[in-house]
Amino acid sequence: MSAVIDKEPRVKGGNSSTYEQDITKFMEMVVARSPGEPEFHQAVKEVVESVLPYVMDHQIYQEHKILERLTEPDRIFTFRVAWQDDKGQVQVNRGYRIEFSNAIGPYKGGLRFHPTVYQGLLKFLAFEQVFKNSLTGLPMGGGKGGSNFDPKGKSDGEVMRFCQSFMTELCKYIGANTDVPAGDIGVGGREIGYLFGQFKRIRGTFEGVLTGKPMEFGGSLIRPEATGYGALYFAQNMLEHIGDSMKGKICTCSGSGNVAQYATEKAIEMGAKVVTLSDSGGTIYDPDGINTDKLAWVMDLKNVKRGRISEYVKKFPKAEYKAGLRPWGVKCDVALPCATQNEVFKDDAETLVKNGCKVVSEGANMPSVPEAIDVYLKHGVLYGLGKAANAGGVAVSGLEMSQNSLRLNWTRKEVDDRLKGIMKGIHEQCVEYGTENGKVNYPKGANIAGFKKVADALISQGVH
Ligand code: NDP
Repeated sequence: MSAVIDKEPRVKGGNSSTYEQDITKFMEMVVARSPGEPEFHQAVKEVVESVLPYVMDHQIYQEHKILERLTEPDRIFTFRVAWQDDKGQVQVNRGYRIEFSNAIGPYKGGLRFHPTVYQGLLKFLAFEQVFKNSLTGLPMGGGKGGSNFDPKGKSDGEVMRFCQSFMTELCKYIGANTDVPAGDIGVGGREIGYLFGQFKRIRGTFEGVLTGKPMEFGGSLIRPEATGYGALYFAQNMLEHIGDSMKGKICTCSGSGNVAQYATEKAIEMGAKVVTLSDSGGTIYDPDGINTDKLAWVMDLKNVKRGRISEYVKKFPKAEYKAGLRPWGVKCDVALPCATQNEVFKDDAETLVKNGCKVVSEGANMPSVPEAIDVYLKHGVLYGLGKAANAGGVAVSGLEMSQNSLRLNWTRKEVDDRLKGIMKGIHEQCVEYGTENGKVNYPKGANIAGFKKVADALISQGVH
């Protein structure tokens, strides 16, 4: 592939207008090479905007075409997933696994089951995963997979048959030392159990090929909690850096799945008050705050009964249900987007700022659109982007892999202490690489720190 940044490596010290031209040129190449994948383009642009000036100042990365190489996945598998529903009808979905980079360790990243899944969505998630995993300091490369299968409204038997069919193909590509998937939207403990069972039947080995496993067969304590807890540890780290804390803060949280539930749990434990949760139907607003008892009820509703968040207001009538609305119109100090990509738009960010929001810590992947991020940065909001703030999930997945290899189980406290240490380490990297005029630009810090480790590994390993 030809160089797209420059024919000749540029010497140190560009300026913002040449950077803009370089970014435009680079993105034209990415779009031409991967057409029709807007989420992937968005994720690449965000990284390139942070990293390109750094690359221009370090000729070695230009000479080795690191950015060109890092924006093309190692390989992509797609496959048919045929299964029978409860009526005996044959259904057909499409499965994917994207192995993006194994420069610093086996491919690692979740599986998403959601009707919106297509190659471009998974490429964005796999690309983000490369940098996120690098930031954790653990030896994990980046990958992602999933299917356009919708588990909502399906019986346990249907979910099991789908998972068995999906794994019958996926098992050809994965292994404890090659590629280790985990959960994501639509893939929780139930799905991981069915997938693991089928892997074992076909391959005949009991190995740590998936993380997020139930405790009975190789799971780690704190893995279900890790992403939500990590996002709150990161918010706390950002606040401590300016001499403040989460105590007493009003939080708005989106989503009501795995990440939102444990973000809420940790926020309560830190002395904050979470006043919203949501799903794709709308938002509940509870001015009294979602306390531990109410959260236990939500967990039962979502994880056992698989109900909708609108039911909250029947149980707790002082709360209000805002059908079709996201939570960002509710006044808060801290916003916790924990549902999905592109769920905070420019006008939402402006409303958050107008209402006094000081911190955004993203449990979800890429929930804020670029124009919303511009608003945060312009107004000095402490913005913990997903690849830094939600890295706790994959970090504890990494710790699950270590425990599986050692054939040991660490205690809850051991895992939680390591998680806290990893989130603190990510924050320190953001401060090291992102501090400008006494303030931390978290996207810049996280992207450069995540990039540098992978780039240096690629250079050491030769052209491939
Ligand atoms: P779950 O499936 O457990 O929950 C997802 C939640 O988000 C549900 O409440 C769902 O509502 C809502 N949601 C999904 N799509 C939309 C949409 N288009 N509009 C509005 N709401 C939506 O997933 P997780 O909690 O595991 O994941 C949430 C986010 O966190 C994702 O971005 C994921 O990539 C990210 N993440 C997850 C990690 C993990 O460890 N699980 C690790 C790192 C990041 P509904 O039921 O209506 O669909």
